[in-house]
Amino acid sequence: MIKEIEIAILPEQLNVYNSIEKAVALAIRVPREKINYVSILKRSIDARKAKVQIRLKVKVYTFESHPVEEKLKEDKYKYVQHADPVIIVGSGPAGLFAALRLLESGYKPILIERGKDVHLRKYDIADLNREQIVNPDSNYCFGEGGAGTYSDGKLYTRATKRGDVNDILHKLVAHGASTDILIDAHPHIGTDKLPAIISNIRETIINHGGEFHFEKKIVDLIIKEGVIKGVTDQTGTSYEGISVILATGHSARDIYELLDSKQILIEAKPFALGVRIEHPQQIIDSIQYHCKSRGQFLPAATYQLVTQVEGKGVFSFCMCPGGIIVPAATEAGQIVVNGMSNSRRNSIYANSGMVVSVELSDLQAYQSHGAMAGLKFQEEIEKAAFDAAGKGQIAPAQRMTDFVNSKISVNLNSTSYVPGLVSAAVHEILPSFVSQRLQKAFVAFDDKMKGYLTQEANIVGVESRTSSPVRIPRDAITMQHVQIKNLYPCGEGAGYAGGIISSALDGVAVAEKIGK
Ligand SMILES: Cc1cc2nc3c(=O)[nH]c(=O)nc-3n(C[C@H](O)[C@H](O)[C@H](O)COP(=O)(O)OP(=O)(O)OC[C@H]3O[C@@H](n4cnc5c(N)ncnc54)[C@H](O)[C@@H]3O)c2cc1C
Repeated sequence: MIKEIEIAILPEQLNVYNSIEKAVALAIRVPREKINYVSILKRSIDARKAKVQIRLKVKVYTFESHPVEEKLKEDKYKYVQHADPVIIVGSGPAGLFAALRLLESGYKPILIERGKDVHLRKYDIADLNREQIVNPDSNYCFGEGGAGTYSDGKLYTRATKRGDVNDILHKLVAHGASTDILIDAHPHIGTDKLPAIISNIRETIINHGGEFHFEKKIVDLIIKEGVIKGVTDQTGTSYEGISVILATGHSARDIYELLDSKQILIEAKPFALGVRIEHPQQIIDSIQYHCKSRGQFLPAATYQLVTQVEGKGVFSFCMCPGGIIVPAATEAGQIVVNGMSNSRRNSIYANSGMVVSVELSDLQAYQSHGAMAGLKFQEEIEKAAFDAAGKGQIAPAQRMTDFVNSKISVNLNSTSYVPGLVSAAVHEILPSFVSQRLQKAFVAFDDKMKGYLTQEANIVGVESRTSSPVRIPRDAITMQHVQIKNLYPCGEGAGYAGGIISSALDGVAVAEKIGK
């Protein structure tokens, strides 16, 4: 007999020999000896009851059946050195997964990346944290692997209908990610593991005849009679191909400016903006797991919060349990924060973006900037945060209770943010419609998670790059730009994805269109 069932076991039993088989035997009412093999299909934490449990969806093989080894999907990449070239601008998740898909359909991906390879990029990130020097081409957003490399590596997505999420996860495993991501309900890789996976993907692409060009910033598009032929980098070198995939992410403001200056249609779109909040992880653990300490068997607890204030959404974004806050600016003179964690999620802090939906109707004062309205709004707030903090990448911050009461903090809590924090009126750096909605939302969130609103948490400004404020519009069927043939706007920067998995899925979808 082969059967799929769900069981729940205590966290401390998870790694105890035979405990899963025993729980399964009990659940299906057969003696333990009759169970031949149990394979775990999904794993999640159930913290709804006082005693936290691990829920497992398992496939049970009893003694008369035999487990068929479930092999990882084999990838079928072709050797493409002499095949038709496709230019991919940007090597983030969208660009990389588009490249892998092109290898499968027999096209030659040529990846052009303004930043450095993951190895060299590491040094610029260290300088950013320690010396507070922002390299505009090599930082937390730019460089090999894009914003997805020195990120948190959370791999869950709501975009499950946009493509084959499992295929993306299998490709990550084939390039070095733990097979745990195939079964966890909330898969996570961690920033310490991502760079090796990204460089393995590069190796696959190069070994199959694709190309990478690092430290080449695209500054122009070669367009003839409404058809894109290629791109030009900052040295004047041109790269031509049968199509161009533009996967430059939402921080490549110069690309939006380039398109706008060439009168290639771009559009303003709604996005979200706010702050990052940092609690001691222990507070989040005790709220979520209903106990003083999570002990040694449970992972750092996570949360997801959402509410409506005056009809507008306020929500947590990219929550990083056991993580740190990082400086995600792409130019000097701006403060942008984001969060990440390593694979063990073992920092003593829990941080999360807390953002308010920004609709086009909120941007009346920026209308003269046309499609760039949201971008200008973002830029102003990032600069205001820099001016308020006054130096380098030091970020403005406030105790959470002081933020809610519009009061400057006398002092701040300790933080994971390496460049450091300075007490400032974060509620004044943000436009009042954002601060006020956040203030009300924090009170509402405390009703959902008692103890969440606390003076032991810091509010850190500003979390401005959650999603793209600009869309590069494309035809729904062909996925090409609505005006320029063979130009494929792709991923988060095009406004069609948000997050690692959905950007990767968008890369695959675009590559499939080229394949056809
Ligand atoms: C610190 C941090 C943590 C994050 N954590 C998570 C997480 O846990 N889970 C999650 O799902 N998402 C996370 N994200 C978001 C996620 O990384 C992005 O959604 C995703 O990387 C977008 O993919 P993309 O390929 O569309 O664009 P990007 O990853 O932004 O890649 C764009 C690439 O284009 C390059 N580029 C830009 N302009 C040019 C040019 N002119 N010429 C050549 N190259 C250019 C850039 O250097 C970059 O490499 C995080 C982001 C950050 C910054």
